[in-house]
Amino acid sequence: MNRPITEGNTLEEVLREIQSRERLLVTSHARPDGDAIGSVLGCTLVLRAMGKKADAVLHDGVPRIYRSLPHTNEVLRCSSINGDYDAAIILECDSTSRTRLEGLEKLFLISIDHHASARDFANVNWIESHAAATAEMVFRLAKGAGVKITPEMATCLYTALLTDTGSFCYKGTDVTTFALAQELVGLGADPVKIAQAVYFANPTSKMRLLGAALSNLQRKGNLTWMWVTREDMFRTEAREEDCEGLVNYALGIEGVEVAVFLREIAEGRFRVSLRSKGALNVAAVAETFGGGGHECASGFSIEGPLATATATILGCLHKHGYGK
Ligand code: 5GP
Ligand code: MN
Repeated sequence: MNRPITEGNTLEEVLREIQSRERLLVTSHARPDGDAIGSVLGCTLVLRAMGKKADAVLHDGVPRIYRSLPHTNEVLRCSSINGDYDAAIILECDSTSRTRLEGLEKLFLISIDHHASARDFANVNWIESHAAATAEMVFRLAKGAGVKITPEMATCLYTALLTDTGSFCYKGTDVTTFALAQELVGLGADPVKIAQAVYFANPTSKMRLLGAALSNLQRKGNLTWMWVTREDMFRTEAREEDCEGLVNYALGIEGVEVAVFLREIAEGRFRVSLRSKGALNVAAVAETFGGGGHECASGFSIEGPLATATATILGCLHKHGYGK
């Protein structure tokens, strides 16, 4: 599609585009995190409440820790678009390629995102980097559309808010974050049940993988790094999704400002997660490697072998004054 891209669209413009369409596909990035899952499910329910036909489609499906959320069994897991859609809403994702879904390009695209590294790639781009989660924007969309927020919607959106703020711990968490959480709980999200599902129902493989990662933990001054190889993944019977959040253990050390986590993927490449306590903008660092994210949480992929990839990343962080 020859795409007329407009920059910096508003909620009202997004609503207008949605209202003039009937069949919508809702998706997010591959390897979805809590915000991707909660926003996609929440947005799909909001669209249906608006009288639209909406399908949630995710290349990698729903990770186990989020399977107890409502309607996860309806999420379509596929790598190319099947079906007749009038538009696709891409949540929390800075490109069509990060969705890993083929065939999106031919649709009218609406991007809703809160990443610091977000770009205008869709026909309509609503970007608010101050939103605590993309779910906060979905919440505003629902309100703007006059949709009555159900307990199911509130559950999905609260899960996204909880996980994307690191359980209300990350930089940027403020009175508005708690006000939104309060509103969602008031609308029927159960914070205890959600926390138990997300944080106290980990698969055993994730804990074993954490052990492998921690046994590789290295530290130099205010910088830590650790990794898992494909052999570690195989031995612990871990899945890709079991890596989510492991990097936080490397950051959670006194005096550490920046943490790096590397996971070996196919063809000698590595997926990298960067985390910061706030002094360093790791989104900017990730962008220099072709990735992106938030000021305090970002990611990218890099060519191996491990020693070379690590040296390149540490060299870059060293230039920024970390790991001395
Ligand atoms: P994680 O380290 O948990 O995979 O990702 C941390 C944050 O950075 C998330 O907000 C995620 O969406 C973003 N991120 C991770 N990898 C990439 C990437 O390759 N490109 C972009 N643009 N963002 C990424
Ligand atoms: Mn997010």
